[in-house]
Amino acid sequence: MAVPKRKVSSHRRGNRRAHHAIGKPNLRPCPNCGEYGVSHRVCSGCGYYKGKQVIIPKVKKVKEKAEESKQ
Ligand SMILES: [Zn+2]
Repeated sequence: MAVPKRKVSSHRRGNRRAHHAIGKPNLRPCPNCGEYGVSHRVCSGCGYYKGKQVIIPKVKKVKEKAEESKQ
């Protein structure tokens, strides 16, 4: 088994780990409702993708029920 010749110093280890941070997701506003989300994914706000209703989001269902009960 290959074994490291020397102990990696805390400085060198820190330098290596300087690149380990996870970057922020690239968010863009939804073209349908304007809610920010990850691109190339179904919008979590309105459930639209490529200009079509793909899923009905749970949040919208609650709002619709609230509006139906008001009427
Ligand atoms: Zn949307």
